[in-house]
Amino acid sequence: MASTSTALSPQSFDLLKAAFRGELIQTTDPGYNAARKLYNGMIDKHPLLIAKCMDVADVIAAVNFGVENNLLTAIRAGGHNGAGLGSCDDGLVIDVSRMKGIHVNPAAKTVRVEAGCVWGDVDHATHAFGMAVPCGFISTTGVAGLTLGGGIGYLSRRYGLTIDNLLSVDVVLADGSFVTANDKQNPDLFWALRGGGGNFGVVTSFEFRMHPVDVVQFGPTFWPLEESADVLKAYRDFIKTAPETVSGFFAYLVIPPAPMFPEQLHMKKVCGIIWCGTGTTDEMDKATKAIRSLGHPLLDHVGPAPFPMVQSIFDGLFVPGLQWYWRADNFTDLSDEAIARHTEHGPKIPTMLSTMHLYPVNGAAQRVGKNETAYSFREALFAEVIVGVDPDPANADKITTWCKEYWDALHPYSAGGAYVNFMMDEGQERVQASFRDNYARLVEVKKKYDPNNLFRVNQNIRPT
Ligand SMILES: Cc1cc2nc3c(=O)[nH]c(=O)nc-3n(C[C@H](O)[C@H](O)[C@H](O)COP(=O)(O)OP(=O)(O)OC[C@H]3O[C@@H](n4cnc5c(N)ncnc54)[C@H](O)[C@@H]3O)c2cc1C
Repeated sequence: MASTSTALSPQSFDLLKAAFRGELIQTTDPGYNAARKLYNGMIDKHPLLIAKCMDVADVIAAVNFGVENNLLTAIRAGGHNGAGLGSCDDGLVIDVSRMKGIHVNPAAKTVRVEAGCVWGDVDHATHAFGMAVPCGFISTTGVAGLTLGGGIGYLSRRYGLTIDNLLSVDVVLADGSFVTANDKQNPDLFWALRGGGGNFGVVTSFEFRMHPVDVVQFGPTFWPLEESADVLKAYRDFIKTAPETVSGFFAYLVIPPAPMFPEQLHMKKVCGIIWCGTGTTDEMDKATKAIRSLGHPLLDHVGPAPFPMVQSIFDGLFVPGLQWYWRADNFTDLSDEAIARHTEHGPKIPTMLSTMHLYPVNGAAQRVGKNETAYSFREALFAEVIVGVDPDPANADKITTWCKEYWDALHPYSAGGAYVNFMMDEGQERVQASFRDNYARLVEVKKKYDPNNLFRVNQNIRPT
């Protein structure tokens, strides 16, 4: 790995400024502190320069500037990365968040999205045509980071991961050249970008396939904590054979004091399933009736809702700047023993916003082979994520300890690796464990497109 410099040469900066249409923000500029803030308030990085790009030409200029000045270079889109991998200390941040163009092609059922969009932007644009792209569970996450890691959401069982709906990308490479990658052009790069993260260049736009998703069947069923072992067992068995129009993730959570919930449930620790179905209300009710009436539900409220509303329902809770620590793993099944570990640690949720989710990733997501894209864990049934969240930095240790202890208890039952987008900065072994036998091929692609590891502020694939 090349060493990096920690100061900007004024001459070279002036040249960049002349070539740049967006905004260049240095440490002494008034907007610096706002511009460097990340979604995760636990992470505080101080780059030398933030290059807020307006277009592809700006991205090319910024990449070349980083190389010429030997700067540690990070890429930022939505800024949501839990590990803060959208920024760096003493280096350059290539920030694409102002590149917000979206072009929907309803006839072809495709949408071209610039890299600065968040999922709420895409949901808004495609919903006007009664369509959606499989994305995550929240509207404020960046399209770029989420897609490049894989993309898990409510539509994964029916339509696959986000990368399974990616048709083409435009990329600025480490040498400043601009290429398109898809099945026909630079297919090795296209393969690597579908799961391999920001390792290979700055993606400037994505083309996705859309699906007819308009109004969905959404809502939770909550149960008392004491029933969580039974619910987990029933959920595990149910989701293996559930119709692909049905999705829903299991959670341990604290019910927030929001008007949509009965007051007697406010601040109550519960377990639950947050449902989202793409069939009719009748189909959803028929498919989920038995499991939703299991035991003694505290609340069961599933009904029609526009998809963009569902996608933004958690936005008000998970606002930017909270302390955020998470750990993750993939699971091919959930043994009764693993469920016993969940019932031990899940109920110990340390703060109102902390939670544990099990996202189902079977169905369409499993029909893609484990070597067809860089995303490896195609046989997984669940992506687990244990999330410690709180506004108060004084609680950082508390939420981190809960996550780590919970993760330690479950890890022995896991498939051995995690979804890279749910990882902190956990070291090279964990990165390799997440890509498994795809790692060697990723190294070859890295050697070809970024041999000097310019793009290394990520879950890094080392070119050596
Ligand atoms: C509240 C919350 C909810 C989430 N929900 C989901 C979910 O439902 N499903 C899911 O799959 N994930 C989810 N995630 C995880 C999310 O996918 C990752 O955090 C992802 O990295 C965020 O992307 P971003 O663009 O916002 O992040 P950033 O911090 O801007 O970037 C993250 C990384 O992506 C890479 N990157 C960003 N932009 C580019 C680009 N243009 N070109 C090349 N590389 C780039 C960089 O390597 C960077 O290090 C969630 C995260 C949070 C915080």
